[in-house]
Amino acid sequence: MRSGPSTTPRIAIVGSGFAGIGMAIRLLRLGIESFTIYEAGDTPGGTWRDNTYPGAACDVPSHLYSFSFEPNPAWSRTYGTQREILAYLLHCARRYDVERFIRCRSRVSAARFDDTRGVWTIDVDCDGARRTVEADLLIAASGPLSRPAMPDIDGIERFEGRLFHSARWDHDYALDGMRVGVIGTGASAIQFVPQIQPRVARLTVFQRTAPWVLPRRDLAIGPRTQRLFARLPLAQRIVRGAIYWQLEAHALAFIANPRLMRGSMKFAHAYLARKVADPALRAKLTPDYVLGCKRVLLSSDYYPALAQPNVDVVTTAIREIVADGIVTADGAHHPLDAIVCGTGFRFNDADAPFEIVGANGADLGAAWRRDGPQAYLGTTVAGFPNLFLLAGPNTGLGHSSMIYMIESQIRYVADCIRALRRNGARSMAVRADVQHAFNERLQRDMKRSVWQSGCRSWYQTKDGRNTAIWPGFTFEFRRRTRRVRERDYVFAR
Ligand code: NAP
Repeated sequence: MRSGPSTTPRIAIVGSGFAGIGMAIRLLRLGIESFTIYEAGDTPGGTWRDNTYPGAACDVPSHLYSFSFEPNPAWSRTYGTQREILAYLLHCARRYDVERFIRCRSRVSAARFDDTRGVWTIDVDCDGARRTVEADLLIAASGPLSRPAMPDIDGIERFEGRLFHSARWDHDYALDGMRVGVIGTGASAIQFVPQIQPRVARLTVFQRTAPWVLPRRDLAIGPRTQRLFARLPLAQRIVRGAIYWQLEAHALAFIANPRLMRGSMKFAHAYLARKVADPALRAKLTPDYVLGCKRVLLSSDYYPALAQPNVDVVTTAIREIVADGIVTADGAHHPLDAIVCGTGFRFNDADAPFEIVGANGADLGAAWRRDGPQAYLGTTVAGFPNLFLLAGPNTGLGHSSMIYMIESQIRYVADCIRALRRNGARSMAVRADVQHAFNERLQRDMKRSVWQSGCRSWYQTKDGRNTAIWPGFTFEFRRRTRRVRERDYVFAR
């Protein structure tokens, strides 16, 4: 199929998580059916398909962690579980007739922009065979946190027990009655630790940095409330709005003045003191940086689980992994049957999501390895015409729902498609000076935020620049992405 400026563009979407499915729904609303969603996995669902660890759930309330156009009156709790969120996403794909556009077991390995013809040539590994397809627009929606990071620890390959990452949970291995080591104490670990603690014989949690933990008020939503939301969607919209503004109010402390975190820090200290009686354990669990610099963790069962007699929290650095356990820097040997790595995802040390070569041979992966991920409004990249990133650089949040950010970007991409049509153009690329100025300003704003208040986090590059977080209110991002400013772009006919 051939297309041109006046006809419908051929679009390749990579990934079928919230971003890919949300984008597809938008395209269908624009009357565009000439697209394919390439999905590497056996089934759609993105991060909510991959993260099946015990206790996997979202720490943003479900009424907000969902598409604005598809409220779900049947959420059963304040915070959706992995199963419920995945079921919701698949329901959206079905309801909006997106399923027929998804090609599973189709991993995009490379995409190259053909300068002369102005199209993307895309390599897709499909059930073991390589195919090459063409598209006018390439939308990368494969998620910033889709590549598990295994810890770079000496001897990891010599461990003779079971070792796996939280995002690739080994459900065939029962941890019951085993001696289990957990490396990492981030958002994933604090969800699965309380789930496995009662089942294992001994749990050793290797903590490098103590996280800030606040209680999670997770209430059941009863059938009467669900019926009310089903009959009166306005009621649910009001609840969603209230959650949105409550979370947005917290943003002020994150973006403007870390000193505003003092109240929350006092509250978190008091919460820790209430839940952990042992002063030695409390000392280990007391963070030494400003609350919010790393993701604030919400859990009401993490501290109680760590206080159980079958749990050790080890804060001495890991020296090596040996055949039957972990040896720490003090020489102590911790015998283990299994090790679970809750060590997060590759982000700042990683390539582009797949090999992406833009105009004049520009290599996105090489640029990102050198300077860290960078884009304009987290969506477009200079030198890469008709490439659109969803949940791209600096769109992450510490305080609210990523679905809101993704929806903002989806609207923006839709407006880019309209701009292409308006200009009778084949392709558009953001101007390098516009992208540069945007990022300079963004990094200036970032400096006064809590994320740059002294800690090291996965948000940062080796040289300390934060390439993950949007350092502003989410409504500001929505406003900036509402309309394409055509003067920011170079259009090619
Ligand atoms: P993470 O937040 O990056 O945490 C990784 C943990 O592993 C940290 O405690 C880190 O310590 C530790 N670690 C990493 N490498 C290590 C090593 N070599 N030796 C010892 N410790 C090591 O990863 P995550 O918990 O999987 O969460 C990642 C992101 O996913 C979150 O920030 C969040 O955006 C998202 N997430 C969201 C939810 C949700 O409910 N919405 C749930 C889970 C995950 P340091 O702190 O010292 O680096």
